[in-house]
Amino acid sequence: MSNPTNDNANAAAPAPSDFIRDIVAKHVAEKKYPRIHTRFPPEPNGYLHIGHAKSICLNFGIAREFGGVCNLRMDDTNPTKEDIEYVESIQADVNWLIAGWAEKELGLNSQSAIGNRQSAIPQPFYASDYFDQIHDFAVALIKKGKAFVCDLTPDETDEYRRNAKESPFRNRSVAENLDWFTRMKAGEFSDGARVLRAKIDVASPNIWLRDPLLYRIKHAEHHQTGGKWCIYPMYDFAHCLSDYIEGITHSICTLEFEVHRPLYDWILENLDLPRALPHQYEFARLSVGYTVMSKRKLMELVTEKLVTGWDDPRMPTISGIRRRGVTPEALRNFAYNIGITKYNGLTDVAVLEFAIREDLNKNALRRLAVLRPIKVVLTNVPAGKTEELDAVNNPGDESAGKRQITFSRELYIERDDFAEVPPPKFFRLKPGGEVRLKYAYIIKCDEVVKDAAGNVTELHCTADLDSKTGGATAGRKVKGTIHWVSAAHAIDAEVRLYDRLFTEAEPDKDGRDFKSVLNAKSLEVLTAKCEPSLKDAKPELRYQFERLAYFALDKDSAPGKLVFNRTITLKDAWAKEAQKS
Ligand code: ATP
Ligand code: MG
Repeated sequence: MSNPTNDNANAAAPAPSDFIRDIVAKHVAEKKYPRIHTRFPPEPNGYLHIGHAKSICLNFGIAREFGGVCNLRMDDTNPTKEDIEYVESIQADVNWLIAGWAEKELGLNSQSAIGNRQSAIPQPFYASDYFDQIHDFAVALIKKGKAFVCDLTPDETDEYRRNAKESPFRNRSVAENLDWFTRMKAGEFSDGARVLRAKIDVASPNIWLRDPLLYRIKHAEHHQTGGKWCIYPMYDFAHCLSDYIEGITHSICTLEFEVHRPLYDWILENLDLPRALPHQYEFARLSVGYTVMSKRKLMELVTEKLVTGWDDPRMPTISGIRRRGVTPEALRNFAYNIGITKYNGLTDVAVLEFAIREDLNKNALRRLAVLRPIKVVLTNVPAGKTEELDAVNNPGDESAGKRQITFSRELYIERDDFAEVPPPKFFRLKPGGEVRLKYAYIIKCDEVVKDAAGNVTELHCTADLDSKTGGATAGRKVKGTIHWVSAAHAIDAEVRLYDRLFTEAEPDKDGRDFKSVLNAKSLEVLTAKCEPSLKDAKPELRYQFERLAYFALDKDSAPGKLVFNRTITLKDAWAKEAQKS
């Protein structure tokens, strides 16, 4: 089914189609609501991860495609776990992911793109802004005899609910309940001493309807409301009411909330609310292979210093992925490619990697760099002589232009590109063999120089100085082409080679301790020899070190100190390994 799209007649990629968008499209056709209104409601108790990215692209995507609005809402009802650091990181991550969506995909001209970008950047809403209203809704339920203050301990409450047993406090009078609730709010009782519960049905087959908790006592400072409150609404109570207060039409969440939906509806339906009620729709959460996707587990990696922080480029967090060099376009394409379904499953990490490679292949500037250098001396090139050669910045994008690279007598090539005893079909450099230097000449290996321990330290070669483009032997074919840099002109850069953080596709499978399958080789740090133009590398640009991988400048870079993160290799090395074995 196709979607009505109000504003993307010029869209490069068609909007996706799925069962939730089908429902929204039907509601738009029926004019069921004046305007479609979604929300993305993270709890600020950790950094957002790639699963949240799926939800952001769905919620903001629907608003964009159907001419609606999406609210970013901090679901901040649990002050003891939340922190302003998380509020700020969430806002930054959402902005990063969706700003520029309009201009890039809608093909808008720059003027309207600027306008759209501003409106695309969300100012967050806070559930805590509604604490007064949510409190008044609780009082309204008490007055209707639909909520009661319960003095059971947390353990007793659990046991009673499990056994479908009524609380002995269930039949308190309205006046009594109002009095107890007022005193709870006034701070008379300690944490956990009493709670407010809905009076629904203790025998319901759905445990969420067995007189669920609505409010609990927590003497804790809140990052938004400070010391104002010592009672806080439970997620289930605050969420549906926040949706209602904001005028949300489609409240989209992950499948585990499907069993909460009757409670979501019960609360709204029992409050005599004048406006249209929001409805909840559920989809399958994202799980990606070779990583974990729960904030609690990611928090453990951070606090136990198994990674350098939430934005460690190996983390599946949005900030980690961004630091690694992945662009928002790639992440949005991934979110669209995987689609929205009702079935939980494991998404192959290769799907994510494909989206990243596809995007970088189009946009990355090509550069020459050698990660593990070995020196080559061209014996027929005079010392001190240099030559500037043209190199193409992006073969897929002529407008990216050319740059010059310096050729000279002494070069570095990749140690791997030479083999003294070559395996079959080795088309790179070997004793007596020839290879073409990218953008330059064909060279022939005449002599292998070794140290006392027998390690190869240098290769003495001769260059066919007629074999460059335009030269007499330019058309001469040799099987291999390798990358290189001029030794005297190369600049050093720290390169951080990242790999998967875990060695198993499902690190926490069957209750296994996920930290027991951390990949010990997930980071290798080298000093690379780079062509000098990389001294002007910019954090917003992406680079392909030819024949190696894609790289992005890391924030640890400083004047005179370049640090590059390997975003992703050119080819899927893991798939190759899997094929071999
Ligand atoms: P986690 O399970 O990682 O701790 P959470 O569900 O507690 O995450 P919230 O901050 O409550 O995190 O999530 C905000 C929104 O993002 C919710 O609507 C939730 O359904 C959605 N979401 C969370 N994890 C995923 C995921 N893996 N895939 C898709 N959506 C997700
Ligand atoms: Mg949650």
